[in-house]
Amino acid sequence: MATRVWDYLAEYENERADILDAVETVFQSGQLILGDSVRGFEAEFAGCHGAAHCVTVDNGTNALKLGLQALGVGPGDEVITVANTAAPTVVAIDSVGAIPKFVDVREDDYLLDTRLVAEAITPRTKALLPVHLYGQCVDMAPLMELAKEHGLVVLEDCAQSHGARHHGRIAGTFGDAAAFSFYPTKVLGAYGDGGAVITDDENVTARLRRLRYYGMEERYYVVAVPGHNARLDEVQAEILRRKLGRLDSYIAGRRAVAQRYAEGLADLTGPGGLVLPSVTEGNEHVYYLYVVRHPRRDEIIERLQSYDIWLNVSYRWPVHTMSGFAHLGYQRGSLPVTERLADEIFSLPMYPSLPRNVQDKVIAALREVVAQL
Ligand SMILES: *Cc1c(COP(=O)(O)O)cnc(C)c1O
Repeated sequence: MATRVWDYLAEYENERADILDAVETVFQSGQLILGDSVRGFEAEFAGCHGAAHCVTVDNGTNALKLGLQALGVGPGDEVITVANTAAPTVVAIDSVGAIPKFVDVREDDYLLDTRLVAEAITPRTKALLPVHLYGQCVDMAPLMELAKEHGLVVLEDCAQSHGARHHGRIAGTFGDAAAFSFYPTKVLGAYGDGGAVITDDENVTARLRRLRYYGMEERYYVVAVPGHNARLDEVQAEILRRKLGRLDSYIAGRRAVAQRYAEGLADLTGPGGLVLPSVTEGNEHVYYLYVVRHPRRDEIIERLQSYDIWLNVSYRWPVHTMSGFAHLGYQRGSLPVTERLADEIFSLPMYPSLPRNVQDKVIAALREVVAQL
């Protein structure tokens, strides 16, 4: 059978009864939109973060978009973020009329280089949008310091970092608000699309509830624009509720896979060799992706296909080099670390139910392929 970076069928096999019961519970409830499952999940998701509020939405992109709008970010405002992220981070910034401003990333953990943020701040800067990429957190203390000094809002992109911790504190509780995706591949994934914003701010919460509900507080009266229809579906909310109770075990499963890769591949590292993920001091990594690096990445990926192993690159094209963002005016060479990484990184299969024998197959194949380069 083909080995891919992600697959949910083994998990579904294990959890089938519970997932189908979640669906049945919603269908029997008599309330298909904004009912008990959405309310229950919001309370539980806020609760496990120690956050005051959670507002669910229909996907992670809208969590970022509505999050920005609720924080007062709009047309002409500059938002500082990175270009080595899932494109939706930047699509969300663009969709509120704001202007993404990219800073480069660190060579060791591939996360936003906080030393470069101060010089990127202009009088038009409104927000910082750190991306906790691959499952570990950006160094938040210097960012929060800068935000305070310059009166900026901070929205964390937690789409890849459910349950990650940074100096003991859980991802999503550092900034003014945090956006999550529950896209199926994510560390906490739905059986379809989903997203959420958590925050301690009551006004931001009230704005988010209006934004996702046409700009209404009550039927059928619009109190503010813009408005969207961006609600999380009850079925997805109920599935997420069930899965939230298993989040710790999903993370433990991912860490076990990561450890096996690290042990099986350790001796391929060294100058000119494979670079394994590095966990930055103070971080507890949740391994949304297991991203390795090698100067001959494309040859490795291609040769692994003859072992029926099909790997991904997250992400092959830094956002600032995409034609859709040409109007932002970035040239190749403007973000050297980001661009170098994009040419060398690739992701190994990673999900909690990844069978042991498949992990071993990936390790063995990668060892053979690298030895033959
Ligand atoms: C997945 C992802 C998103 C978008 O989430 P969707 O639910 O797919 O809209 C945004 N940012 C990052 C970093 C992501 O990984």
